[in-house]
Amino acid sequence: MGGGLSGPATPREEPTMKCPQCGCQEFYAKDPVDPFETYRFMCPGGDIIPDPDNIGQIEITLQTEAFCDRCSWHGRLDALKTT
Ligand SMILES: [Zn+2]
Repeated sequence: MGGGLSGPATPREEPTMKCPQCGCQEFYAKDPVDPFETYRFMCPGGDIIPDPDNIGQIEITLQTEAFCDRCSWHGRLDALKTT
């Protein structure tokens, strides 16, 4: 990779997954085995990025029930994909 990076002419809408209630992009998921265990993750650009402390501890998919870090919203991540 290299060369000149020309800025995008028109701003393109990123497929960001964010909370439909507060717009927060930080969520957490509960351990299916131990509901008291939670795993934080973010979804910048539609990718699921687990918190570095949580990598490998739980698999977070679009079918995972996610809980918003800031408000009471929770639901499956694939529900956030629809516009
Ligand atoms: Zn929220």
